Amino acid sequence: MSRTPLHVLVIGAGTGGMCLAHGLRRAGISVAVYERYRTRTDGLLGYRVGINPTGCRALRECLPPELFETFLATCARPPRFFNVLTEQLHRTASFPLRPDADPTSIDQSVSRMTLRQVLLTGLEDVVHFDKTFTHYQQHDDGQVTAYFADGTSATGDLLVAADGTHSAVRRQYLPHAVVKDAGSINIASKIPLTDRTRSLLSDEVRQGISLIFGAGGVMGVLHVMEFRWDRRGAVKPGIGVTEASMIERWPGLLYDNTRDHINLIVWSTASRFPANVMELRGEPLTRIALELTRNWHPHLRELLRSADPGSVVPIRVATSVPVEPWPSSSVTLLGDAIHTMTPGRGVGANTALRDAALLRRELVAVEAGAKPLLAAVADYEREMIRYGFARVADSLRTNGTNGDDPIYKPVIGRLAMLAARGYFSVTSRVPPLRRKFVDQLYNYRGA
Ligand SMILES: Cc1cc2nc3c(=O)[nH]c(=O)nc-3n(C[C@H](O)[C@H](O)[C@H](O)COP(=O)(O)OP(=O)(O)OC[C@H]3O[C@@H](n4cnc5c(N)ncnc54)[C@H](O)[C@@H]3O)c2cc1C
Repeated sequence: MSRTPLHVLVIGAGTGGMCLAHGLRRAGISVAVYERYRTRTDGLLGYRVGINPTGCRALRECLPPELFETFLATCARPPRFFNVLTEQLHRTASFPLRPDADPTSIDQSVSRMTLRQVLLTGLEDVVHFDKTFTHYQQHDDGQVTAYFADGTSATGDLLVAADGTHSAVRRQYLPHAVVKDAGSINIASKIPLTDRTRSLLSDEVRQGISLIFGAGGVMGVLHVMEFRWDRRGAVKPGIGVTEASMIERWPGLLYDNTRDHINLIVWSTASRFPANVMELRGEPLTRIALELTRNWHPHLRELLRSADPGSVVPIRVATSVPVEPWPSSSVTLLGDAIHTMTPGRGVGANTALRDAALLRRELVAVEAGAKPLLAAVADYEREMIRYGFARVADSLRTNGTNGDDPIYKPVIGRLAMLAARGYFSVTSRVPPLRRKFVDQLYNYRGA
């Protein structure tokens, strides 16, 4: 049997790493998290992430109950429609989503910064900032030591790589596991929600997730993010007493500058962008987005022009190349560190959360003396590799996140675009097809 009590080292205080840390702490397992960012507000955290029922269940399993309720209270209003629009804002399709009473059976819209602050709550003593992992060493007694750029080190029984797409742990542990460029680039921007910007959107768009299939092979996605607090950070009138006191008691809002906004992401094949796009930020990027969307409706272009310049960032979309299973050891991986996926199906963070919950269950069994550590890691990896790389493959096939998608080709692109729009249009108009589409959306997303 393994040495217990266990001590787990987690590299990366992102979505998956922090969920795991909460889950271990809740189970009484010793954990330490090492994060390269210098403070809890550093990093690219502006854009929206959709937390689906799988992700919600994992958070419910790992977070202390009150913090899980705080997570729910700090989500934006859930989308009521899934819309498909043309670049001229013509409605191709609109699928009403389920006005479900149970908040864990619908998609939650979350601000990345808010989620980070929620996940950091209560683990301040466990997370070590300004610790850039450089390499590790495995010892004959089964322990593992992580080394950091500042010359310090930490030793534990298991090292968990939760350090994202460019994982330094993966580079050392599985050098053959590579991440490749998916061939598309996103420009993400946040637009403050004001009376003017709100007036540029129809009711369905304002209350939904809207996918824009633009003629000429430029795609977009638009979400309106409305929270329970106002510009000053005070709880809005009309919010229930329990939620209001939950938000007021939550210290994370002090670090979170998230306010009501519109998230607008524009993307296309990488060849449509200038070579230096990844070095640009702010207004020069907005100009590129405006150039790509010359044929878009004036309201969408006005939204782009209204973006907060500090929020406009380029994202090069990446995808992991699947790897064969490897012999398990005192090092393992979760989330983007092993299965980076394109945003096509919106499940990267959710899969990282699923990993965290699964690994936690395995480590709880070790701590209880029911399994040796290596067997638990092997069981976790077998399952995680199966669903993780399945999600990578699905995501790459969806919505033009693959730069070679026919939608981007000069002539057949027009036909591919018409076919995609035709599919959504027919599906949304024929009741049995519409029901099937929404059922599949929920089934895939883990309801
Ligand atoms: C445009 C876009 C939209 C998306 N939308 C969705 C969505 O709607 N739903 C969804 O489920 N997913 C979405 N995703 C995917 C999602 O963002 C990722 O899959 C998820 O954040 C991965 O979580 P993680 O914990 O594996 O890694 P991350 O959250 O990236 O965390 C990794 C952490 O490790 C730290 N780190 C890195 N290197 C080191 C080091 N050497 N030493 C110490 N720390 C280190 C980083 O600073 C970071 O804090 C989207 C992605 C993109 C690009």
